[in-house]
Amino acid sequence: MSAFQTSPGTRDILPPESARFRRFVDVFADLVEAAGYGLIIPPMFEDLGVFQRLGEATDVVTKEMYAFADRGGRQLALRPEQTASVVRAFVQHRPPTPWKAWYAGPNFRQERAQRGRYRQFDQVGIEILGADDPYLDVEVIALGWRFYAALGLRQVTLLLNSLGEPDDRARYTAALAAHFEANLDALSAESQQTLQRNPLRVLDSKRAQDAEIVAGAPHIADFYSDAAAAHFAAVQDGLGALDIPFVLDSKLVRGLDYYRRTTFEYQGATLDSAQNALGGGGRYDGLAEDLGGPATPGIGFALGVDRTLLACDDEGVFGPPPHAVDVFVVDTTGGREALMITDEVRAAGLRADRAYENRSMKSQMKAADRSGAAIAVLVGSDELAAGTVTVRPLRGDGEQRAVPRNELTSHLRKLLS
Ligand code: AMP
Repeated sequence: MSAFQTSPGTRDILPPESARFRRFVDVFADLVEAAGYGLIIPPMFEDLGVFQRLGEATDVVTKEMYAFADRGGRQLALRPEQTASVVRAFVQHRPPTPWKAWYAGPNFRQERAQRGRYRQFDQVGIEILGADDPYLDVEVIALGWRFYAALGLRQVTLLLNSLGEPDDRARYTAALAAHFEANLDALSAESQQTLQRNPLRVLDSKRAQDAEIVAGAPHIADFYSDAAAAHFAAVQDGLGALDIPFVLDSKLVRGLDYYRRTTFEYQGATLDSAQNALGGGGRYDGLAEDLGGPATPGIGFALGVDRTLLACDDEGVFGPPPHAVDVFVVDTTGGREALMITDEVRAAGLRADRAYENRSMKSQMKAADRSGAAIAVLVGSDELAAGTVTVRPLRGDGEQRAVPRNELTSHLRKLLS
């Protein structure tokens, strides 16, 4: 074993695995940029206070945050998610609204590591600040839905809920607390603790012992104000108009405290329940104000990259990794020709690789095979003297032939098309 290994909950993502990662982000970027979202790259650490605004009742903040003091005594934290950073950036820079931003990158939470749950994990997401329109909620939810389809993932379920306006949510939370207090002895020890921090989160309990009491809990729908009910009805109507199927789930409260009105989650059917949430989001109209800005409506989602890729594997979404290069240059004259030919072929837009250290022909041909290249370009002293190269197809049954050096790239292009 080497002296150093990745620390718990972190991983190296190596090729060819990493190619799927990139594909994920590329598909996402194309989709959201075509919908008017611009890339934001916030820092990976910020003032601790930015994240504390996410709520004292959330595990992400109280139990899982990588918080530290730097050498200047500043209280900082690695970001556990990016919504708070995006909203902080909005408050700091005050761009014109509606402000539509997308992001991709790692977050850090000190969780109990397991399959699909890591301490450093990647998310992509979008946020829109400054528009309060139920059809915007629909646009956001639909973009996530379309993204999974574009990626090729089929077995996704959309769960939808509304937490009502802040007053509705407060009255509901009080009613929930009363219900769980009345049944305290029957609740699991874990849920009794959760109840002290955040009664809403007891609804998330997956423990069999809690099932009956959770099932008998009051429903948020009975607490909606007229405005909240109308907003939620419009969201459902809009999803219907776009033919996006959803399942109403009154227990969907999601982890973070700042959500109000619309909340949603995408679940992968092939994953087990501890990590079947592929992504989710909701409205967070109060967050900009909490971060010292003007009252500004906001909505967005975050999609987990790692977990979605696990679901993709389960569905066999990705084929074998693409061949790394098109052309492999084998040069037995010292390597200078290979240097020039790979440079030229790459400049022509083809993917090219070569061997180094002036190895034997046999060893270079082995490397060519391993590279997955479709074509080998061979240069020996005869070719060098004649101003030609030998082009040898490595797959299929094409014949090898000598090609004038100055016709190489056009010849390769023809062969590869
Ligand atoms: P959240 O920011 O907690 O709403 O999470 C949104 C999505 O990020 C989840 O649905 C997961 O796909 C992913 N996610 C959250 N925490 C982790 C983690 N510790 N490891 C891997 N993925 C995570």
